[in-house]
Amino acid sequence: MDVTLVLTHRCNLACTYCYAGDHHAAEMDDATMDRALDLLFADGADRAQLSFFGGEPFLAFAAMRRAVAGARERAAGRPLSFRCTTNGAALTAEHVAFIVENGVHVTVSIDGVREAHDLNRRRAGGQSSFDAVERGLRALVVAGARPEAMMVIAPATARWVNDSVAWLWDAGVERVRANLLLRADWDDHREVLRRELVAVGRELLLRRLDLRRQVRDLPARAAEALPIVEFEPFVARAAGSGGGCATRRQVVVGTSGNLYPCAPMVGEDRDGGPEAALRIGHVSDGAAAIAPRCDDGCASGGSCACAAYLETGDPTCGGENGLWFARLCREIGAAVAAGLAAETLAPFALRVVAPPPPRRASKKALVGAVIGAGFALAAGGELVTLRLARDGKPACPVRPVELQVDGELRAPPPPPGGLAAPPVKPRR
Ligand code: SF4
Repeated sequence: MDVTLVLTHRCNLACTYCYAGDHHAAEMDDATMDRALDLLFADGADRAQLSFFGGEPFLAFAAMRRAVAGARERAAGRPLSFRCTTNGAALTAEHVAFIVENGVHVTVSIDGVREAHDLNRRRAGGQSSFDAVERGLRALVVAGARPEAMMVIAPATARWVNDSVAWLWDAGVERVRANLLLRADWDDHREVLRRELVAVGRELLLRRLDLRRQVRDLPARAAEALPIVEFEPFVARAAGSGGGCATRRQVVVGTSGNLYPCAPMVGEDRDGGPEAALRIGHVSDGAAAIAPRCDDGCASGGSCACAAYLETGDPTCGGENGLWFARLCREIGAAVAAGLAAETLAPFALRVVAPPPPRRASKKALVGAVIGAGFALAAGGELVTLRLARDGKPACPVRPVELQVDGELRAPPPPPGGLAAPPVKPRR
């Protein structure tokens, strides 16, 4: 099974939205790590993935080295991959060399251009972290580590989304991932974000079409060296994969050995916190008992349980912001796919409209939404489920309400494999 180790709760940053909570000094000890590594192939898997999370995992670099060596021993030649999520601000040349040597797939958390990044991702003393993160990211690109970037989009940073994604692509980051700050009040910022995401979709399509032209005109070897551009929310959410959730058996091991279905659910990994209710056991339970508890993975009921938890506090109940974001990204992903299929920017001449959920605590909006739902059902249009909140409490799963997506976009239906934009060249 795939195993994620939370190596440490320490961090060199103090992001405003950090779900790891208080950065206490808890570290994973060797005995806990060994038990966690024993899980990798204990369920008979023919391949496995070991991931590192924190806090900032590179503050526990010695533990990371030890874990990689221990995992290789246990793999005994079977396919084994490594992933790591880092804020990039503490990366040294030694870390970068280790990443490249071991083929660690790195995701750097960066909220985009300086103006956006420094709003929420500063150091504990309030100093900017942007220069250090950018330095780390560029060192990874130059070393050929092919890092991904992970942006958290907050209401205050929504206006920089298009600039940020384009800047990351230009910096050599091929794949940009993005999560919405789900618990924020988005009522007054949805239109800005919609406009920015449509601009990202248009830019993505432009670059993909341009890449295609270059691939056609270049000799095969030169074409291989061209960078790919991707914006993950348009791909994963368009394919209805639960917001990019893993589909393989996976477990997250906290520093204390407690087990969780998903990394953001670990929180502070303390017995008194809400995270205690989300645990699925302890590494000391043994692989035979643990494996069946991990079969649901992160995806629960067709949507991302982790995103649902982060928004509503209930892993089984998606929230309005997450559902709206997923729907919007799905529409834009469809437009990109349509444009690529037809080799034209035409789909972006049309407006993309995912209807916003009702404004918070607004009875008028609730009534309007229900009436809208009636029209939608009568019209028999394409439907999306938005669960309406009452008095700030999610109604889920009591009364899901179907709303029509009032889009003017007329993209063709997705291809059988989902809405992922066709690749412009094979991956290296
Ligand atoms: S880098 Fe990650 S762990 Fe550190 S403060 Fe930011 S969100 Fe929290």
